[in-house]
Amino acid sequence: MKSLNRSLILNLIRSKGTISRAEIAKQTKLTPPTVTNIVNELLVEGLVEEGHAGPSNGGRKPIMLRINTANFFVIGIDVGEKKIRFAVTDLNANIIGRQTVRLAEAVTKDQLVQTIMKQIYMLVDESAISFAKILGIGIGMHGIVDHEKGIAVFAPNLNMKNIPLKELLEKEFHIPVKVENDVRAMALGESWFGNGADYEDIVCINVGYGIGAGIIMKNRLFRGQHGVAGEIGHTVIDLNGPACSCGNYGCLQAIAANDGMKAYVIKQMALGRNTIISSLVNGNLEKVSGKVIHQAALAGDALAMEVLENSGRYLGASIANLINVLNPERIIIGGGISRAGAYILDPIIKVVEQRALNAEAKKTSIVQSKLKDKATLIGAVTLVLADLFSINYESPKQVI
Ligand SMILES: [Zn+2]
Repeated sequence: MKSLNRSLILNLIRSKGTISRAEIAKQTKLTPPTVTNIVNELLVEGLVEEGHAGPSNGGRKPIMLRINTANFFVIGIDVGEKKIRFAVTDLNANIIGRQTVRLAEAVTKDQLVQTIMKQIYMLVDESAISFAKILGIGIGMHGIVDHEKGIAVFAPNLNMKNIPLKELLEKEFHIPVKVENDVRAMALGESWFGNGADYEDIVCINVGYGIGAGIIMKNRLFRGQHGVAGEIGHTVIDLNGPACSCGNYGCLQAIAANDGMKAYVIKQMALGRNTIISSLVNGNLEKVSGKVIHQAALAGDALAMEVLENSGRYLGASIANLINVLNPERIIIGGGISRAGAYILDPIIKVVEQRALNAEAKKTSIVQSKLKDKATLIGAVTLVLADLFSINYESPKQVI
């Protein structure tokens, strides 16, 4: 069923909003009979609908076609370190229903898969839609993912290896399943529906417990030969820096992500610094997190503002390095710590202005994520949409 021409036409209708058959033929250079055949097929399937009559070029007014976005649905799943988010959306990624499940401390592989399956059934049931109307399931999974086989190869924070998510879910639900690393899914979501929509070359950086980047070049996800591309959290920014979870020393995330910020606060408190952070965590320093630090910064706490600025400066240096290597049009900052807004964004922009190589690079647009905590979820949905609307999975979001 799926052919190149079909995807080409579908994506053209999607990107134009409404378009006539004649215009499709003109833009795709397909013959009018080919366009008519494929459009008829899409009309029968209910993926496309006929709308109002368009402007006439002298003859009969053409019927405009558009995607029937409310007739089919997609399920998106964001498997995080502590919780799993689920959403069912229409073909414009508008959320129809959503749920969040907290994961138990020591969850097993089987429990994780069972939880995902059970929750999909519940979500579909509550949204009152039939499985026949669901075009696919997209999963944004933290850790290392084999996107071709759909396997979660290593999820460090869940301490799990080799979960064949695609195989298991396709066997259960009989619909296509796409699995991708969470940050790459996030970048795809921002590229289609967020702050990357008007840009071809973007880097989306997730700053939370770890730091990772999803790279999109010429509208395509870039993974590198061994899937390592975008691991900026493990680029070394201080040769004599603290130990990182990867076994190296001085990685960006060991300094600027959640644990690095926490270590900085605890060290400064041991040196006798005054801060309201200790009262915010009731003296339990284990509870110090990016969220608490942001809360303290909002209350004007000097140490909290300092630690956010410090993280921002290291992030800024890493981003300047990244700009000097990839030269993207826009950098999008997402993830938990990005919620600290200007406290973290201002020092990033300042350091990039100091360190990027030329005048244009210094002015690289750096913004917060538009989709915020839904970025990976919408990105997971986009994995399915990209497959439906594009010539191939990773190909351009726009046509022609
Ligand atoms: Zn590391």
